[in-house]
Amino acid sequence: MIDTLPIDIQKTAQSRIAELNLDQLTFGHTFADHMFVADFDGKEWTDLRIIPYGDMLFKPALMPLHYGQAIFEGMKAYKSAEGEVLIFRPQENAARLNKSAHRLCMAEIPEDIFMSGLTELLRLDSQWVPQRDNYSLYIRPFMFATDEYIGVSPSKTYRFIIFNCPVGAYYSKPVKVKVETEFVRAATGGTGAAKCAGNYAGSLYPAKLAQEAGYDQLIWTDSTEHKYVEEAGTMNFMFVIDGTLVTPAVSDSILDGITRKSIVQIAKDWGMPVEERKVSIAELIEALESGRLTEAFGAGTAAVVSPISVIGYEGKDYDLPEIKSDNFANRVKIYLDDIKYGRVADPHNWVYHL
Ligand code: PMP
Repeated sequence: MIDTLPIDIQKTAQSRIAELNLDQLTFGHTFADHMFVADFDGKEWTDLRIIPYGDMLFKPALMPLHYGQAIFEGMKAYKSAEGEVLIFRPQENAARLNKSAHRLCMAEIPEDIFMSGLTELLRLDSQWVPQRDNYSLYIRPFMFATDEYIGVSPSKTYRFIIFNCPVGAYYSKPVKVKVETEFVRAATGGTGAAKCAGNYAGSLYPAKLAQEAGYDQLIWTDSTEHKYVEEAGTMNFMFVIDGTLVTPAVSDSILDGITRKSIVQIAKDWGMPVEERKVSIAELIEALESGRLTEAFGAGTAAVVSPISVIGYEGKDYDLPEIKSDNFANRVKIYLDDIKYGRVADPHNWVYHL
């Protein structure tokens, strides 16, 4: 609970909540009634407001449509059995948004504006947070340049928005992944550690090729040698080798995932050895072949953990051991969900109460 900043609230004349059908939700297509908006006028953030989710009008010269100054975040709110709205580690998302802003030469958003907007918006639209197991409200904070000018330079003005989508259970069947050794998601010195729009655009074509070849996801490798594994699709990559949780150390080409850092903390709390370091493909293949690699999974907000069943590399598919209920990945997912829905104690104060 925080003392929120003054925000002008214009409520919708016609709520769409009655149309919400939880049984027919497809990710990212259903939007809650309101959005929070703030504008940076070149000097300061102004005009903090909550308005109905709806159209915005811009001219074709809007800078981010040409040069890509656009960054975003993704996090979730959950409803506890008592009906309380809980948000998982939102201050981490605020901090990461500002890291992205810094890298893309954009205005940073003070945490009190981010948190005030988020809090008031979710208070107003709390009915949109589904009270059902495995359901949540996906929260999309984002920022983009608003100068209308065709020239490659940082925009002077920006808009920050938060809008929300109720989302259903993310069924994470084990995925078949391919180690990508031609294309890269992020280069050393590039923008991989920022959550910027262009990173995702560039990943679509290689992901499409992988899907055509029968894989669900890509394992991205480093841009200089294609020798080290980095991320799993739009998730961080984690595995268990000889009982140790191993994950690539974050770098300027790896996003500092909030699920990843939460899982690392939980593993440490449980007394499990953890290694955050460079991991070569050669080491991974050796550990797979010798049976020392017992689990591999992606970690991210959408699915929490997404277990991997097959890793393809240079035309050969390597099968992972069958996933059992006492696997680390399963246990940590259940525990994280329990924290997020307020079913267990929250030892690190990760849950934000409205
Ligand atoms: N890597 C990439 C490239 C991502 O887009 C995401 C999703 N935000 C993640 C990792 C996982 O991050 P988080 O756990 O904060 O959702």
